[in-house]
Amino acid sequence: MAMNDIRENVLWAANRLCQDRLVVGTWGNISARDGNCFWITPSGMPYESLTVSDLICLDLESGKPRGRWKPSSEWRLHMAFYRHRPDVMAVVHTHSIYATAFAVARRPVPAAVEDLAQAVGGSVEVAPYALPGTDELAKNAVQALGKKNAVLLANHGLVAAAKTMEEALKICLLVEKTAKIVLLAHSLGSVSLLSREDIEKMRHFYLWSYGPEKDGEEKA
Ligand SMILES: [Zn+2]
Repeated sequence: MAMNDIRENVLWAANRLCQDRLVVGTWGNISARDGNCFWITPSGMPYESLTVSDLICLDLESGKPRGRWKPSSEWRLHMAFYRHRPDVMAVVHTHSIYATAFAVARRPVPAAVEDLAQAVGGSVEVAPYALPGTDELAKNAVQALGKKNAVLLANHGLVAAAKTMEEALKICLLVEKTAKIVLLAHSLGSVSLLSREDIEKMRHFYLWSYGPEKDGEEKA
């Protein structure tokens, strides 16, 4: 993907976050990998008015920023994801209501429905609490993420990491939807969970057979 396309993709996701009401104000942030650096949204600027020239490029080795604004205060979190997961090309961080409710209760969002099980690879775990913007938060988040595609930050929000921006955004919506479903199911009396074995089967199907392309290539 050309550099301009990568930056346009970040802006596209920023607008979608607003449309889908996954963020309030300028909280939440988005980034995309570009070779040995990544582009991230600036700190405290409204998403609706962002242009590609407002994005900041950070070097993945040095963490040095290039751009006219300050990068999002969560740049360490994004950098940690790219450093620890070579497969990750896009990271989206939101403060959406239902996912954050689980983060405040410090309870994982269980893989209780098939779409979440497929796209995330199991329950969305909660990273131990750390102050926003710190190295400690980044370290905790990466550890709790493991090989999955989403993680909750205690008393804070959600981070989704994926091979494409579309996928990262979709995961944010899926986690929010599942968190809502599980809360509703609790109010109905009980939550039945999927078995580990079935989650693994669904994940395998999603990674290798889902979608219109022929089988045999990893899809997500
Ligand atoms: Zn945040």
